[in-house]
Amino acid sequence: MRALVYTAPRELELQDVPVPRLESGTVLVRVRAVGVCGSDLEGFLGKSKRRVPPLVLGHEFSGEVAELGPGVRDFRVGDRVAVYPLIPCGRCRYCALGRQHICPGRRVYGLDFHGALAEYVCAPRASLFRLPADMSFVQGALVEPLANAVHALGRVPQVEGATALVYGVGPIGMLIFWLARRLKTERVAVVDINPHRLGTAKELGADLVVNGSQSNPVQAILEWTEGRGVDFAVDAVGHPDCRANTVACAARGGTVVWIGLGGDQTELDGRSVVTREIEIKGSYAYGLKDFERSMSILAEKTFPIASFVSEARLEEGQSMFDDLASGASSLMKLVFTM
Ligand SMILES: [Zn+2]
Ligand SMILES: [Zn+2]
Repeated sequence: MRALVYTAPRELELQDVPVPRLESGTVLVRVRAVGVCGSDLEGFLGKSKRRVPPLVLGHEFSGEVAELGPGVRDFRVGDRVAVYPLIPCGRCRYCALGRQHICPGRRVYGLDFHGALAEYVCAPRASLFRLPADMSFVQGALVEPLANAVHALGRVPQVEGATALVYGVGPIGMLIFWLARRLKTERVAVVDINPHRLGTAKELGADLVVNGSQSNPVQAILEWTEGRGVDFAVDAVGHPDCRANTVACAARGGTVVWIGLGGDQTELDGRSVVTREIEIKGSYAYGLKDFERSMSILAEKTFPIASFVSEARLEEGQSMFDDLASGASSLMKLVFTM
């Protein structure tokens, strides 16, 4: 089968590789749409220590069941599915609590084993989610990224009626922003430094867009809220300054969710966190319930897919990844279709 293989930093090669072997309780999925994640891009750039070449990247995907492994009886060849791409250990306390996304033994497509930028992948029965009949494969590939947004906003005690800030509107930040509006926040501000992205957020109804390279975001948000700050702020960048700014923008008693993974050490005004009772929470991936909820939100067909997705073919892999890596790309979510 054909696969787009990450062979060295900044290099992808379309290669002929063996079709994965079916094990008991798994199915073979013919991949039809795969989204490119920020983490795939980190891998491509050689910045991810855990993505070691040669490796097939890609974990945001949908496709058709092509073959059933022994013991799988409730799926048929041709069934259309999205695949929950985390394979938890199933035995630890986190798995028992339904928090399999923070299972220390979890394994992920395109990281711990070959991913979906290939014609076929093997998937456990428990990871398969049927696509509604009228949902496209491209929409099916968005279930995973939107599940991140579902999970991140699930960390906020009260979304409806809130004044919110989304810091960084790359694909995940943009989905969080869109979902925050769909969940009836009173108003949402976004901060970014990419004018394309700020333009898209504005089009999709952001109440305030702040270009962080032109004005001081904390000042802008405090002015916008008459000095009060926002009820909740999400950092979808991960840079230490952005994280610190989300804390500085939060109102007393507010919630800050960090989902971005750009940097490690972050310096904060600890006194202000204590005296203003700011709650800081991490958000990492998504559980099975978030994945299901994401699927049902996409099934409503209100998501503005045209302003979000650009489609490409596997043959264009190298040039599309180069473009994304340039930092000046106008692409939001790149989805390879096959
Ligand atoms: Zn992802
Ligand atoms: Zn586990």
